[in-house]
Amino acid sequence: MKNHDILQRFLFDGTDIRGEITTLESSYQNIAGRQKYPKPVAHLLGEFLAAASLLSATLKFPGIVTIQARGDGPLSTLMVECAQVSNLRGIIRGDLERAEGLHSLTELMGSATLAITIEPIGGERYQGIVPMEADNLSACLEYYFQQSEQLPTKISLTANDQLAGGLLIQQMPNSADRIKGQTDWEHVSALLSTLKTEEQLDLSHNDQLYLLFHQEAIRLFEPRDIHFFCSCSKQRTANTLVSLGADETREIIEEQGVVAITCQFCDEEYRFDSDDVEDLFDDNKTTLH
Ligand SMILES: [Zn+2]
Repeated sequence: MKNHDILQRFLFDGTDIRGEITTLESSYQNIAGRQKYPKPVAHLLGEFLAAASLLSATLKFPGIVTIQARGDGPLSTLMVECAQVSNLRGIIRGDLERAEGLHSLTELMGSATLAITIEPIGGERYQGIVPMEADNLSACLEYYFQQSEQLPTKISLTANDQLAGGLLIQQMPNSADRIKGQTDWEHVSALLSTLKTEEQLDLSHNDQLYLLFHQEAIRLFEPRDIHFFCSCSKQRTANTLVSLGADETREIIEEQGVVAITCQFCDEEYRFDSDDVEDLFDDNKTTLH
């Protein structure tokens, strides 16, 4: 069975606790390899990517999860997105030279906030923002779940040069027996906190869950594939020009003959000539061909 670039859901039988486990390899490598990041920066990106896939799997509907950290440190923005549990993309903005030699989240991002955006397909998007007060992403996300969704959640994230791993457990609401629910949760989350980095990166999902929870009855579901995929398109890029406005876009056409926009996630270049631009700002037409 394929062990990497997959996500698997699991359930603890007889409890209200569910989990997700993921290990990323080529999806992580493709995204982190787009720039020459210092290792701790690439590892941080790996943790964010693993987190985005875990969060995407917790949605009850098809949608896109975006995790965006903004800070005043060497890295000003770290943004990752997971669409439909399977399509990952991500970018980092900042001064990579200043990031050299720094390791911790706080050193790299400075004083930062974490925004989680959920965009259901065809539905209304919503966003929760929390301060990043802890020095690791797992704790910041646990705080987000506690604040925004009031769901007890434990997350373990880690990454090395090759792999990024994530494991999430969450207690679902509506526990019939609140005391049993609380006891189950404390027991299972204490077990998760014993997971070591090397175990998380070296062991298969099955072996990780066995190591942690062999005394519990766990049901592990079929793996879902995860890969790097950028959802950019000429149509979506055209929206950037619309928000720039007709005057400014026409000015660029006059000066340069063409408007070229490069996708920041995948480096794909979209070119708009004067006909494209006129189509775009012609009120009688709404779509580009
Ligand atoms: Zn793209």
